[in-house]
Amino acid sequence: MESANIEIVYTLEYKRVKNINLRIKPDGSIHVSAPRKVSKAEVRDFVYSKKDFIFKALDKFEKMKKYQPVCHYSDEKIQNVILEICQEVYPYYQKLGIEYPVIRFRKMVSRWGSCHSTKGILTFNLNLKYADRKCIEYVVLHEFTHFLQPNHSKDFYKELLKVCPDYKIYRRKLKEIILN
Ligand SMILES: [Zn+2]
Repeated sequence: MESANIEIVYTLEYKRVKNINLRIKPDGSIHVSAPRKVSKAEVRDFVYSKKDFIFKALDKFEKMKKYQPVCHYSDEKIQNVILEICQEVYPYYQKLGIEYPVIRFRKMVSRWGSCHSTKGILTFNLNLKYADRKCIEYVVLHEFTHFLQPNHSKDFYKELLKVCPDYKIYRRKLKEIILN
């Protein structure tokens, strides 16, 4: 953020305090309290002397707001939702000769699911509770499709497209969920 001519908006409250205090709330509002003897111009100088700190804090709150993922399901519920979807999509794969897999759950940061195709195990990320049902369906279909095509080859996406024509939309939505 360039700073030279930027206006900092804040509320000022005169209080029985010794020093000028500056507080930034997570909503981005800036609150200043000052002793009565301090002039408004002095308060303003004080605030602007802290501008680097202020911009940094605002930036942080802005990022937090952006990256705060919405929780769609409770920890208990998410496993049931995933299992339910697995059962919904399975008949298609059953027809293709796939055995119903062992379903496992883990908290993961870097992937939404994984498929151990030779062992018949699908592992799903419990953090899928931050995804909406459509996105979870995509993850389940993605992992089931790995039983047909283990790698992310062209053929894999050809298979995925058959069952999830809008997979790119859900993949992008999932990318917007940042897990820490
Ligand atoms: Zn994959």
